[in-house]
Amino acid sequence: AVMVSRRMKRRRGWRKVVTVLEDLEEGCATPVGRLRQVVDAMAVEMHAGLASEGGSKLKMLLTYVHNLPTGMEKGIYYALDLDDTNFRVLRVKLGGQRSTILDHDVERQPIPQHLMTSTTEELFDFIATKLKDFVERQENVSEFSVEETRELGFTFSFPVKQNSSSTGTLLKCTKGFSIEDMVGRDVSQCLQEAMSRNGLNMRVAALVNDTVGTLALGHYHDQDTVASVIFGTGTNACYLERADAIIKCQGLLSTSGGMVVNMEWGNFWSSHLPRTSYDVDLDCESPNPNDQGFEKMISGMYLGDIVRRVVLRMSQESDVFGPVSSRLLVPFILRTPMIAAMHDDDSPNLMEVARILRDTLQIPDVPLNVRKLVVKVCDVVTRRAARLAAAGIVGILKKIGRDRNGGTASSSKAKGGSQSKMRRTVVAVEGGLYTNYTMFREYLNEAMGEILGEDVAEHVVIRDMDDGSGIGAALLAASHSASLAIDNI
Ligand code: BGC
Ligand code: MG
Repeated sequence: AVMVSRRMKRRRGWRKVVTVLEDLEEGCATPVGRLRQVVDAMAVEMHAGLASEGGSKLKMLLTYVHNLPTGMEKGIYYALDLDDTNFRVLRVKLGGQRSTILDHDVERQPIPQHLMTSTTEELFDFIATKLKDFVERQENVSEFSVEETRELGFTFSFPVKQNSSSTGTLLKCTKGFSIEDMVGRDVSQCLQEAMSRNGLNMRVAALVNDTVGTLALGHYHDQDTVASVIFGTGTNACYLERADAIIKCQGLLSTSGGMVVNMEWGNFWSSHLPRTSYDVDLDCESPNPNDQGFEKMISGMYLGDIVRRVVLRMSQESDVFGPVSSRLLVPFILRTPMIAAMHDDDSPNLMEVARILRDTLQIPDVPLNVRKLVVKVCDVVTRRAARLAAAGIVGILKKIGRDRNGGTASSSKAKGGSQSKMRRTVVAVEGGLYTNYTMFREYLNEAMGEILGEDVAEHVVIRDMDDGSGIGAALLAASHSASLAIDNI
């Protein structure tokens, strides 16, 4: 009788867990019809954000970047790429004459944890000294004379209100970054001062968002590149917009030509987004509630934590994971690279899943069906993220008229038919979530095809731009001195 009741208990526990999974699947559902609604909402919000300051949750920030690199840039340029987990210093040697990048050196440096929440001066002094060391290690005596100023592209991956292509103030902190005294200050001036304090003769020639750096490198390699997206700790996109479509700064810009617009799409919101109770809780408990809603469903900082919350619920409602592990209560303990590793685990017994459950969550010895269940949770959460990301990209394509064959109705008429061929469109992508997480990448590409239809999707290329945000900043530092025109808008 004891045996029977134990089996019944286990069965009841399993049923509860399956219910949690089914609710999750229902809550995360992204049928193509819903994705199309997200596409439309994205395009509508883009219009609203361009029409007036504060017109939308999408800030649609001006970058003052009118010229993207063309390949003619020449010389040695530096870049500093500051994200919230590490920073990278780069040195790029450009040959001009459409030759490719001759040489580039990168060094990754972790930022000591205490500096991430300290003061602006402390953080930038640390960065400036590391940058100076790097310069001294890399340079030959002949390259720069003592009086010569080096040019730097500064990639700063947070929302910045730019006053020019090389200056701007931090609007708010996102991701894990929380140096509150930096908000409202000119970040490029802060860096400039730290470099002077530390005796480094270098000028911030370009201040760029990571999306803009990635677009710059994308355009350098392929002139059909019109937009770029980051899928990393955070998520964001930028694209080339026609000047006359940027209503909110009419008069400021000449109506010919264009400008790169930093969308800050991490803050996008729409009632069409499939939101679950896990998302609501994650948002409430985050340092920035009601903020960055799209980012919290998509980016690397959060996916692992959504999965943790689901597994916690399952563990609380049944005993299939044994007693509730206290580790499951620790926010952000399950990081996205771990869910990628579990999701991509193709060993027959899911040994990687077992290892992560044991080592990270202190859940030992769960049977195979429970391991499979965990993989399923990763699948549901990541699939939703990737499909929403795809809808976001198509939203941009729609805004710029690249989401259908024949372009706009008027141009297809002008060509005397509705089936004129669509222009090749390249979207540059950077970030570990896309590069290192196979299933995320596959789901994203699959959804692009579903939303656009294969005949259109075949003209849209998603191109991986490794190190784009850093190299691209160096290219922008270069092209801002060279002042070449955007020829592809
Ligand atoms: C920031 C963006 C950035 C993105 C990707 C977001 O949290 O607000 O400025 O581009 O992360 O790094
Ligand atoms: Mg980055």
